[in-house]
Amino acid sequence: MTPSSAETSFANLAQLARSLEATPKRLEKRAPIAAFLRSLRRDEVAPAVHLVVGRIFAEADERALNVGWATLRRALEGKRQTTLTAEPLTILEVSRAFAAIAATRGADSVRERRRLLESLLGRVTAEDRDILLRIVFGEMRIGVNEGVMLEGIGDAAGVGPEAVRSAHMFLGDLGRVAEIALTDGLPGLRGAGLRLLYPVKPMLAEMAEDLADVLEEHGGETAIEFKLDGARIQIHRDGDAVRIFSRRLSDVTGSLPELVAFARSLPVPRFVLEGEVVAVDHHGKPLPFQDLMRRFRRVHDIDAAAQEIPLRLFLFDLLALEGQSLIDAPYRERWSRLEALVPRDVLTPRKVARTTEAIKSFLRESLEAGHEGLMAKALDSTYTVGKRGKKWFKIKPADRLDLAIVATEWGSGRREGWLSNYWLAVRDEATGGFQMIGKTFKGLTDEEFEAMTARMKALVTSEERWGFHVRPEVVVEVAYNEIQRSPHYPSGFALRFARIVRIREDKGPEDADTYARLKELYAKQFERKGRGPQEV
Ligand code: AMP
Repeated sequence: MTPSSAETSFANLAQLARSLEATPKRLEKRAPIAAFLRSLRRDEVAPAVHLVVGRIFAEADERALNVGWATLRRALEGKRQTTLTAEPLTILEVSRAFAAIAATRGADSVRERRRLLESLLGRVTAEDRDILLRIVFGEMRIGVNEGVMLEGIGDAAGVGPEAVRSAHMFLGDLGRVAEIALTDGLPGLRGAGLRLLYPVKPMLAEMAEDLADVLEEHGGETAIEFKLDGARIQIHRDGDAVRIFSRRLSDVTGSLPELVAFARSLPVPRFVLEGEVVAVDHHGKPLPFQDLMRRFRRVHDIDAAAQEIPLRLFLFDLLALEGQSLIDAPYRERWSRLEALVPRDVLTPRKVARTTEAIKSFLRESLEAGHEGLMAKALDSTYTVGKRGKKWFKIKPADRLDLAIVATEWGSGRREGWLSNYWLAVRDEATGGFQMIGKTFKGLTDEEFEAMTARMKALVTSEERWGFHVRPEVVVEVAYNEIQRSPHYPSGFALRFARIVRIREDKGPEDADTYARLKELYAKQFERKGRGPQEV
């Protein structure tokens, strides 16, 4: 494991990339990655890790190369004048050149970027140039995602993947995780916890299907909070230094001067707060997500933007206070300390509920105030960094679509003898056909199953082992909680928790909702969740 003193050539990394691309099996990629990482000098580990996963900089690093096709084409032309020198290009040189390219500013920056690129491209073979270009354009695609790299790092350092993964949740930087793993091993990774001014991956929630289940899962009582339709933020303060991070851990401090001022106004100098910011109109009513994004994207005239689109802060968690991490403290305690720290008007509206009625009535209150729904949080739960689980549930009113039934399966158990599992589809205007987006056996009464079985039999177009394909004539109104991307159906989408609300006797297949509408709803949902293309 002694690193050699000479800098490692970029050709080694390009060679590794090609061999990983030729190795389709995830498991077989680990050993070559581990061997490669072990062969590097310590200062090469972080940059090499980023390059192998096809990134220029660390995940939360906002720098970008800003290299367009035109610049690249000219750099490729220009590189012919330079010759392959005896000195091979090293990984560190690539990393430094990328940093220099990202830092170019001003009138001459296009030419400067081209010059820097030329000097890189002129020093590699055609084969390695291909890898370099793929990195520049974010198109590495050698099947090494974050997960594979985390496993490779574990193998290289001789530690289990869990320790590496958990350190990554706190550090949010694969390169640094690799560096720590290879330098300090397991103790180093274990020491990676919450640090002031460095973001951690947020805890995530699961979609609730049923309110009674939520109560049961949380032991009979649960804390319900308004679910705000804004952007999640972490506010770190260490004395005079304040940094604010988005859900994807980018630094958004510059766009939010009023929150910086707020953080500085609190009586305690060291803390990490978590909450949601929402854009509001001058009456305090929430504005659509797009308006909030305008605030985040603004780089000039921040003060004018702050006047134009005021923000409201809703805090819901406290992850550290006075040098003490509260990650492992129960939610109940984090909340009571939060309550003691901040003014009431920045706290997310919240209640403790013991009945589904109480949850429903708070849900109505939240929707009436223009918010998205509720979050239900287990009172005794610790903050599980970066994980989605049942300790936090999101509760949103179901959305509905009118869908055609295109096939049906025989039921089993209590539903034996009935054609009672239905394939649901949207109408595809482009092809005139139907696109399946889910199945359900939920929502009908026994009498309805009985009648539906007879109806389905009359519409059969072909028989299968499991049931029948049918002519798409029956339309049902289907409630669902979320539209997800799914590889299972050619449509590419699947409904989560679909259940039939009623049979639409008044509608025919030509009235079913369309594929185009489904995609539109998906995009909207995406946007609202802050994961859309314009995400901060
Ligand atoms: P989702 O993105 O659909 O998984 O929903 C989780 C998101 O809801 C979080 O990432 C937050 O941005 C947002 N959110 C809104 N209100 C709350 C709340 N009271 N507690 C936690 N997250 C919330």
